[in-house]
Amino acid sequence: MAEREWVRCPVCGSKTRLQIRADTELKKFPLYCPKCRRESLIDAKNLQVTVIKRLEEKMQR
Ligand SMILES: [Zn+2]
Repeated sequence: MAEREWVRCPVCGSKTRLQIRADTELKKFPLYCPKCRRESLIDAKNLQVTVIKRLEEKMQR
């Protein structure tokens, strides 16, 4: 059986509704947290989640 893990929200630390497997690879995935309602861009590989960008920081050009 493939190992699976719930991805946690990098902002508030609660579980999101996203599960990844040991062989799941995500690139710039917009992870949405139903709890704090924020979206974070993440990469995931080998069950390691990397936050690319915390909250959509107000990007002013
Ligand atoms: Zn959250």
